[in-house]
Amino acid sequence: MKTNNTSDVLVIGGGPLGLAAAWQLSGKGARVQVLEQFNFANQLGSSAGVSRQFRIPYPQSYMVRLVTQAVPFWEQLQTLTPRPLMTKVGTLWFGDPSVKSTEGNIGEAEKALKAERVPYTSLTSAQIQAKYHFRDLPKTYVGLFQADGASINLKETIHTLLEWNRRAPGVRLSEDSPAQHISWRSGMFRVRTPQGVFQAPKLVLTPGPFPNSLFKLLGFQIQATWWCMASAYYRKTRPDVQYPTWFVFQNPVGANGNQFYGFPEVDWNYPGYLRVASDFVMQPLTAPEQRSLIPNPKELAYTAQWVRDHMTGLDPDPCYTSTCLVSLSTIPNKEILLDHAPDHVPHHEDIVICTTGWAGKFVPLMGRILSDLTLDGKTPYDVAPFRLGHRFFQKTS
Ligand SMILES: Cc1cc2nc3c(=O)[nH]c(=O)nc-3n(C[C@H](O)[C@H](O)[C@H](O)COP(=O)(O)OP(=O)(O)OC[C@H]3O[C@@H](n4cnc5c(N)ncnc54)[C@H](O)[C@@H]3O)c2cc1C
Repeated sequence: MKTNNTSDVLVIGGGPLGLAAAWQLSGKGARVQVLEQFNFANQLGSSAGVSRQFRIPYPQSYMVRLVTQAVPFWEQLQTLTPRPLMTKVGTLWFGDPSVKSTEGNIGEAEKALKAERVPYTSLTSAQIQAKYHFRDLPKTYVGLFQADGASINLKETIHTLLEWNRRAPGVRLSEDSPAQHISWRSGMFRVRTPQGVFQAPKLVLTPGPFPNSLFKLLGFQIQATWWCMASAYYRKTRPDVQYPTWFVFQNPVGANGNQFYGFPEVDWNYPGYLRVASDFVMQPLTAPEQRSLIPNPKELAYTAQWVRDHMTGLDPDPCYTSTCLVSLSTIPNKEILLDHAPDHVPHHEDIVICTTGWAGKFVPLMGRILSDLTLDGKTPYDVAPFRLGHRFFQKTS
């Protein structure tokens, strides 16, 4: 097959992270080729659906800092489109203060917010119900409200990045281009796809929930688990009721993971409805191929029951249901993995990887970090907690 394309950086994986990397790399003068195995803005990876939560409360100070540092990058991206990329409604975290989940713990988040001098308000169960339309919560529940939380319009974010990259003279985008073979010759990685061979001295790998089919081409894999998550929308029955973005911490009850999160009504996503989802799966998967496009009916039923029991102004029948697939690292707080390829991979220092975890809130900042690591080998942002390759990379033959 003939080599038909040479660039400075090949980005494999054309989701929001890959597109944000291309945006930032080309802003620094690099010629970038993005390879996407399906079509751009597809609904098969981790960016399916429309909304994501942007929130500052985290139990770890490094997360609070990094999300805060993402704000100017969102502002920069917003200048590229007149359509809103976020609707700021605040973040409400509430529930059982003793629960420590993959999202953390309310008390620990308060400590991290205090340490980072981020303003927030503490709430009792009665205050949560009086101010935010929830009902019949246990008296022992506590909460915090942080005003900078927002609902991210991820669909518009992808569209904005895609349009910018389409117009950028230094960026080329190729769909239906799964990486099928990777080799290295004369200072270049050569990536074979059904559209031809593409080559560049540097690789950025942003495969979303499909890491191992890509990494195996370089002789390694990651240990991960996959969640095929269910989501639904609920029709508003009272126009005056509005919710912030929220998350409720509760202990599991039998098969019901019992942690839920939700979004405000926004005019860019099923106006008249709002989204509520479960933050658990009843059956984690061991490979992305096991995913279904049909949401687990029990997960939907548990969520609908929670809406019926504890929310006001909504019809508790789930509508517009969907799934979204995410790969998660196998450590308790399910971090993002951001690292160079493992040492045994030839020229590993020229391969930068970002996969797993909840990275929606970081999209434009992560573009900058991936660009820094690719072009300079370092970044001023504290990404040490995400350099987890030594724990999760495994050599394959
Ligand atoms: C239900 C759900 C809720 C979430 N909620 C939040 C939230 O509230 N806040 C938050 O911050 N984050 C959240 N996330 C996480 C966030 O959505 C993801 O981190 C983010 O969308 C990932 O973007 P990505 O570009 O890495 O992946 P993707 O959008 O999956 O893109 C990866 C792309 O790479 C392509 N690809 C893979 N392998 C190859 C290959 N070999 N060759 C070519 N192309 C390839 C895929 O086809 C895909 O298009 C959520 C995720 C889910 C699933």
